[in-house]
Amino acid sequence: MTTPIARQVACPSCGKLSPWSSDNPWRPFCSERCKQIDLGAWATERYSIPGDTPPAADDDRQ
Ligand SMILES: [Zn+2]
Repeated sequence: MTTPIARQVACPSCGKLSPWSSDNPWRPFCSERCKQIDLGAWATERYSIPGDTPPAADDDRQ
């Protein structure tokens, strides 16, 4: 017997339940937005290592 109901996973960013299926390219997140938020937080953590990585200067380009 197979399970007809898609498995639900809680979005790591907002906690909302979303189906874990190929219809959801952002899984385990509920949306692209939440995925971006989480990745952003992750990058911020990485770059906050003190005394190792200087701030990126490329962002000031017009
Ligand atoms: Zn979410």
